[in-house]
Amino acid sequence: MNVSVVLFTADLRLHDHPPLRAALDRAGQVVPLFVRDRAVDAAGFAVPNRLAFLADCLADLDAGLRRRGGRLVVRSGDVVERVRAVAAEAGADEVHLAADASGYAHRREERLRRALEADGRRLHVHDTVTTAVPPGALTPSSSDHFAVFTPYYRKWSVQALRDPLGPPRSVRVPDVVGSEPLPARADVTGVSAGLAAGGESEGRKRLTAWLRSGIAAYQDRHDDLAGDQTSRLSPHLHFGTLSPVELVRRARRTGGPGAEAFVRQLAWRDFHRQVLAARQDTARDDYRTRHDRWRTERAARADVEAWREGRTGYPVVDAAMRQLSHEGWMHNRGRLLTASFLAKTLYVDWRVGARHFLDLLVDGDVANNQLNWQWVAGTGTDSRPNRVLNPVVQGRRYDPDGAYVRRWVPELAALDGSAVHEPWKLPGAKRAAVDYPDPIVDLAEGLARFRRARGLD
Ligand code: FAD
Repeated sequence: MNVSVVLFTADLRLHDHPPLRAALDRAGQVVPLFVRDRAVDAAGFAVPNRLAFLADCLADLDAGLRRRGGRLVVRSGDVVERVRAVAAEAGADEVHLAADASGYAHRREERLRRALEADGRRLHVHDTVTTAVPPGALTPSSSDHFAVFTPYYRKWSVQALRDPLGPPRSVRVPDVVGSEPLPARADVTGVSAGLAAGGESEGRKRLTAWLRSGIAAYQDRHDDLAGDQTSRLSPHLHFGTLSPVELVRRARRTGGPGAEAFVRQLAWRDFHRQVLAARQDTARDDYRTRHDRWRTERAARADVEAWREGRTGYPVVDAAMRQLSHEGWMHNRGRLLTASFLAKTLYVDWRVGARHFLDLLVDGDVANNQLNWQWVAGTGTDSRPNRVLNPVVQGRRYDPDGAYVRRWVPELAALDGSAVHEPWKLPGAKRAAVDYPDPIVDLAEGLARFRRARGLD
């Protein structure tokens, strides 16, 4: 009987899974394999919040496979060596894998292909598993990728998407292939107290609720910090418990401006992946250098610590940074204004902030994180690289009655709507009664330093 291996990576689901479908179509038995990849640990990407969410995803994937007569096989170590060993144990003649955008994913794919071919086996790599439109599928006439979102989006939105696939009815796994125990969420320490639950079942529940009662108001409410009216599907997209193709197709069916605005954000996700796939160096290096001489972490240690801990004295910045540590997630408007504050107002290297985000974000993702940080820092694809977000203006605009600040900064909970964004303006006795730091930087001075550094004045 033919046997295939399906290597799950950032596609931890059974619905709309082209590699699994292809394997089941060609082989009588399949080994659904996940490798706890030593290289991901060594690179510092296996942080508690994502490990905990991953444990949920693997448990749910295993449960889904068991309901269909199969099970998940987990191994740890070098991914290529483990796949090779499992393929040999199972007597598999082919391995199926989803394509991914990062430099690491490309190298993994190449190493796997070479190793499997040397053993007389074939590697099949499938597109449209981790993106709706594959990186490189759309290009402008003069380059191998789009550097500007709007023309990319114009093409992306008229691209025909394949039909989503249903989950398999049954999966037969060869008995000879054993598994290590699945990692358990309870064994992970250092997890944010408010971290969301992971897994495909949870993702599908969230998606159904979102399409029924969230998406319609998305265009009007997505920037409302206190309202928290975005989908919160990002960790599910990161771990692939939801399929981007299915998401775009189902969101479009709901119709209206909310759906259009939401689908546009999913296009941003594909956009960043096609930039990263073409320019893998942008995980570390500026996409477009502005010749910055950033303050390093060492030079700006006190400022960086205050930013990380949510003690900058700017309430909306502090609220967002505390949401990040408590939930392992932050609202997009919070990400924009905290990143602008670090990179521009404090003029600290964007990589310092991006690393901190990657240490905590449950959706922490090389393409979206690094390229959004670059966008905010003005070294990326933003056509207005020198814009600086003023945290007081941002707070007043996106948290007008201060509810978001009061939720995350309890020291300010007694202040009313307008005072909450500028506690330093409180009269003496009232200010003294509030145990909250003064601003660590004067906004005008921060702006002047940035403009000087960029040669704008
Ligand atoms: P929704 O508003 O409901 O959007 C739906 C989906 O669209 C998101 O889940 C996400 O997959 C995609 N999306 C939304 N905004 C963007 C965007 N600006 N760029 C790319 N895709 C987007 N997103 C991550 O997934 N991982 C990260 O590590 C990450 N780091 C970021 C760092 C900074 C400095 C900034 C400014 C943004 C970052 N984002 C990141 C993008 C965005 O903030 C999150 O995707 C979003 O807040 C997740 O919440 P949601 O699922 O409720 O989003």
